[in-house]
Amino acid sequence: VFLSLDGLDGTGKSTQCRLLVEWLSAQKIPVTQCADPGGTPLGQELRKLLLFGREHTIATTTEALLFMASRAQLVEEVIRPALERGEVVISDRFLLANVVYQGHAGGLSADALWQVGAFATGGLEPDLTLVFDLPPDIAVTRRNREADRMEERGADYYARVSTGFKYEAGMRPAKYRLIDATPDADAVQKVARREVSRLLSD
Ligand code: C5P
Repeated sequence: VFLSLDGLDGTGKSTQCRLLVEWLSAQKIPVTQCADPGGTPLGQELRKLLLFGREHTIATTTEALLFMASRAQLVEEVIRPALERGEVVISDRFLLANVVYQGHAGGLSADALWQVGAFATGGLEPDLTLVFDLPPDIAVTRRNREADRMEERGADYYARVSTGFKYEAGMRPAKYRLIDATPDADAVQKVARREVSRLLSD
């Protein structure tokens, strides 16, 4: 079973990811956790380049393709093998982030990104994506680390990211769940666990 978590930075996505892994592990369900971008040695290099590589200006198309390259490696090296072992895979972001950040917010074609994404992942899609939703002005105040290169983008960009997530989640109700991330982490986790339990019992 392949699960991904996504949403604006500051929505608590990574905390929710960690809590889900703890919950599944406590039930002795084998789980592999990964992060996109990142998750492999090559992916880590690409992540560093994308988030902190201030020596280059990176065109939006290049940026999208570097995220895609990181993801292609992640699928090949980590996700597919784990799924073949019968594990639950939880990825902190996946292709949807590319469609929303570089597409809806960055101005590239969302359709083209879905297509390139299908090539990059060999057609692998999460069985379920939880999209954590928070008004962008609140999300900004909840970010818990130093701003990376991407986060220096303005409020308009984040407003488009937020709208983009809602739009894409709304288009695919069978596989995407928008979760209100306004309540505290435990309350949000309850909702997330309910969704995952439902998926696992299918
Ligand atoms: O959630 P994570 O820490 O992996 O995100 C790293 C940074 O990359 C964040 O600033 C996020 O906004 C950005 N990002 C992006 N485009 C993507 C995925 C992440 O700009 N496709």
